[in-house]
Amino acid sequence: MHNACLAPSWIRTEKMAKKVTKIGVLTSGGDAPGMNACIRAVVRTGIFHGLEVFGITRGYAGMIDNDIQKLESRSVANIIQRGGTILKTARCKEFLTPEGRKKAYKNLKSHGINGLVVIGGDGSFKGAQIFSNEFDIPCIGIPGTIDKDIAGTDFTIGFDTAVNTAIEAIDKIRDTADAHDRLFIVEVMGRDAGYIALHSGIGTGAEHILIPEKKTDVEAVLASLQEKEKRKKLVNIVVVAEGDDFGGGNDLAELIKERIPGFDIRVAILGHIQRGGSPTSMDRLIASRMGYSAVECLLEGRINVMVGIVNNKMHFTPLDKAIKAKQRISEEWLKIVKILAS
Ligand code: ADP
Repeated sequence: MHNACLAPSWIRTEKMAKKVTKIGVLTSGGDAPGMNACIRAVVRTGIFHGLEVFGITRGYAGMIDNDIQKLESRSVANIIQRGGTILKTARCKEFLTPEGRKKAYKNLKSHGINGLVVIGGDGSFKGAQIFSNEFDIPCIGIPGTIDKDIAGTDFTIGFDTAVNTAIEAIDKIRDTADAHDRLFIVEVMGRDAGYIALHSGIGTGAEHILIPEKKTDVEAVLASLQEKEKRKKLVNIVVVAEGDDFGGGNDLAELIKERIPGFDIRVAILGHIQRGGSPTSMDRLIASRMGYSAVECLLEGRINVMVGIVNNKMHFTPLDKAIKAKQRISEEWLKIVKILAS
């Protein structure tokens, strides 16, 4: 079923030639809706293949603290629709040290775990890569991040839900903006990536979308708003990614207030609601496909890769190449924003 070609660094090495019989699964770094659906897929696919599956609580911190429990098929019942992660997640400084990773290894060994599935972002993959290079435990990464900024996959678990949450919120904001003839600046998540801003902005008919991937021409934004004010188009939505090079929603509002006093401006910072909530059908589907595929990878000896989806097919990227990546934002998309918001 797998179609990607094997590169020498991905394949089972002598050191890792043992059959995988017991696997651990953890969620690490930033949480994202759909992680539970993915945990469920890993657990049930593992059990289907006769493996024992262990849940590791709080990511690498749980590996170091030996917070590891055997999971049964029923342990993951009734979680496919739940946001967050039943395994909890954490950032763990101790795992950055060789001593910390050694402790983690000893704990995995004490349970007989000989394969690991890490659901997280590029930081978690870096940790997994280093760990599997040091010890005889192969790792598979699954991209779980609302930001969608990982190389080697068209989708990451949580992105679709976060966009839909933002859209729902912006739709509501538009109602009140319309009632009062207000200009709303909506700040969405995305410190390094503008995908949530771009998708939710197009989906809600925003007049302007400010993203980190594209240098913001703030004078052009002001000129366009000025022109709109002149023709009494006072209801406007501007979506700003929190990491835009110009600044956040409040910075932009200050500048507009100063330069175009005619606008009645409000700022809405959507914040952490974008991380929570029941995952969309899309996130449940990709989480299930990726979780299933990760276990198949471990069984086939396709190790130390991140499982992704490219052109609707499973795609495997060596963990050291599964890094944060600014994908090129299509100029056509930006043109669409301009034309549709006139
Ligand atoms: P994300 O996976 O969402 O990118 P982080 O960057 O915070 O989140 O990484 C999650 C965890 O992965 C870190 O807290 C740390 O335990 C581990 N990690 C990250 N980078 C490394 C590294 N270079 N070496 C070892 N572990 C790492």
